[in-house]
Amino acid sequence: MSNGLPRTGVFVCDCGLNIAGTVDTKTVAAFAEKLPGVACVVHNRYTCADPGQNEIRDAIAEHKLERIVVASCTPRIHETTFRACVESAGVNPYLMEMANLREHCSWVHVGEPEAATHKAMDLIASAVARAQRLQPQIEPKIKVQQAVLVIGGGVAGIQAALDIADGGLQVYLVEKEPSIGGLMAQLDKTYPTMDCSI
Ligand code: SF4
Repeated sequence: MSNGLPRTGVFVCDCGLNIAGTVDTKTVAAFAEKLPGVACVVHNRYTCADPGQNEIRDAIAEHKLERIVVASCTPRIHETTFRACVESAGVNPYLMEMANLREHCSWVHVGEPEAATHKAMDLIASAVARAQRLQPQIEPKIKVQQAVLVIGGGVAGIQAALDIADGGLQVYLVEKEPSIGGLMAQLDKTYPTMDCSI
């Protein structure tokens, strides 16, 4: 703990010029150093690349980090990347938080570097505060039976049962009527082949 808060590491990404072309990332990194509980700040060129991820692992070991904030891009792209990265360094993956300096700052505030930089600092301060309130989570592994119950033996149920069986799973097809086929079974011929409906 640092000042009673979890020891937090902040990793500020340039994304080449994608972020650093608009956001003053040096100023942002210097700002992050003064936030409560922050034990280390690392400024990366490309945080998701192997050297950037190695810097995260090294900093976790060196500074005994308990929470990680990656200030880079949208979590939709790299949340799983950074969760796996911190987990490989012995930190629960759910103790990693992201601040989006690219889609939410540099890309939407092109031509407004000051505003983009201020917004980046706000987002990092919020992410640090949020990270420090995170609790570790465990993903339980539950054994499931590799079989599927399909209810209804109409055309949709029959096709679903066949597709699932083709996928290699055991299928139980349940139909309340004495025969399968549903409404299609009531049609004598189907267009254009004039086949029997089932
Ligand atoms: S982590 Fe995101 S913002 Fe940083 S270099 Fe990779 S893609 Fe770009």
